[in-house]
Amino acid sequence: MAAMMWIPDEMLPGDGRFGSGPAKVRQEALDYLALRQDIIGTSHRQAPVKDLVATVQEYLAELYRIPEGYEVVLGNGGSTLFWDMAVFSLIEQRSAHGVFGEFSRKFAKAANRAPHLDEPAIFEAEAGSIALPGNSDADVNAWAQNETSTGAVAPVERRGSEDSLVLIDATSAAGGIDADISQTDVYYFAPQKNFSSDGGLWLAFASPAAVERAARIKAAGRYIPEILDFTVAAENSRKHQTLNTPALATLLLLEDQLHWMLELGGMDAVAARCRQSTQTLYDWAEARDFATPFVPNPEHRSPVVATIDIDEAIPVADLISTLRRNGIRDIDPYRALNRNQIRVGCYASVEPEDVEALTQCLDYVIGRM
Ligand SMILES: *Cc1c(COP(=O)(O)O)cnc(C)c1O
Repeated sequence: MAAMMWIPDEMLPGDGRFGSGPAKVRQEALDYLALRQDIIGTSHRQAPVKDLVATVQEYLAELYRIPEGYEVVLGNGGSTLFWDMAVFSLIEQRSAHGVFGEFSRKFAKAANRAPHLDEPAIFEAEAGSIALPGNSDADVNAWAQNETSTGAVAPVERRGSEDSLVLIDATSAAGGIDADISQTDVYYFAPQKNFSSDGGLWLAFASPAAVERAARIKAAGRYIPEILDFTVAAENSRKHQTLNTPALATLLLLEDQLHWMLELGGMDAVAARCRQSTQTLYDWAEARDFATPFVPNPEHRSPVVATIDIDEAIPVADLISTLRRNGIRDIDPYRALNRNQIRVGCYASVEPEDVEALTQCLDYVIGRM
């Protein structure tokens, strides 16, 4: 492409952060963080931080209207750590996985590597569609509600035998897509996506059956590293603390975001915002002859992460770098997918009107390439 192209200021979105994770943090949340000198730099074993953890747990339970008996459990290490925790602490003998992108594949791989487990049952679909675990003797059925690598959304509903556990990776779904938590045994996520916080934590809604399963595996004598022990995490969470030191800033940003979401009207309101933003992109793509939504079935198109294939005649690397220099950031496709594609995070904090502005900027740049 020729010399640097500048998009007219009045066309640019108010905020150019469209990453799929980490993602935009609201300015109000950052302001709140700066105000909480009473918390930052204080002990996580004392009341102020424990109260903060308790508030986060309460807000999350309220946002998802979690069933009686379910607990909000948290710990350090993000969703990736949770996969290994499930491998040590929740899968008894064999898991089954719906694999339809890189994140759902990573959990399946973690289970496959574990010497103490049988080889997992894999139900796989090509990128852009979805796969749920089918019939098997698995004691855990696992898939992602939203495959962030491809922008495909899957239903959350019980599957498998009655005493098997359903583990849902909701890392990019939670806070942007609703779910009936009673259909799951562990609905887990990290706060750097819809919750507009920083990474490093995992959080989960856990059913009594999941807590029991972890206790049974532990009692049977399996070696479980302490940081991967779900029972230890649940015990600490009941005391509103984590096994080891959490990032207090992450908790504060999460608290502010949850408060904002509940004020806005809860899950219905945040889900509607996300849907509106992604629909803008899908509609834009369908109206252009150089763009197509990557996920063919509209029912599987993610309401939080929109993936759009771009005609090969338009090199997305140039498009993305031009947009980046104009302040529009992180619309790169998932690296392993290797497509001429853009991927736009439309999480709860993103203003739907900024997504409208993004489509105008895309037209502006593509029209001049
Ligand atoms: C981002 C993401 C992860 C990884 O989360 P970390 O906190 O970085 O480990 C896992 N699963 C899904 C679906 C994700 O979107």
